[in-house]
Amino acid sequence: MPKPVPVPDELSKPFWDAVNEQRLVVQHCAACDRRQYPPERVCTECRSGDRLEWIPTSGRARIIGYTVMHDSRVRLLQADQPFNIAVVALEEDPAIRFFSHLPGTPADEVPVGATVEAIFPELSPTQRIHEWQVVR
Ligand SMILES: [Zn+2]
Repeated sequence: MPKPVPVPDELSKPFWDAVNEQRLVVQHCAACDRRQYPPERVCTECRSGDRLEWIPTSGRARIIGYTVMHDSRVRLLQADQPFNIAVVALEEDPAIRFFSHLPGTPADEVPVGATVEAIFPELSPTQRIHEWQVVR
């Protein structure tokens, strides 16, 4: 499925750099020992801004819910409708959630509760993206 190419900014660049190395990272606040994603300039819990670091994840998550998109406003995605938009919760910290089209899983056949693992398809010669695939 074609997808909009992400445009990393100063805040998200470390995340996208890691994705290009096929690693999934999230922010970690050393002040209150808490993971955070998507990235923010400060910890949204303790407001500390200078104790944030990027840490690796297990790359494994669990599907906690989904919807099926039939009328996306993103023209690039319209040819692939209907498609899944699943919410997955990171295995080691279910408060950290990602969205996924679940490549390989037919629309509306999403196995809620199943384990997924991160994959990093190449979107352009210079940018990979993170996606999630059901572990079979
Ligand atoms: Zn904090």
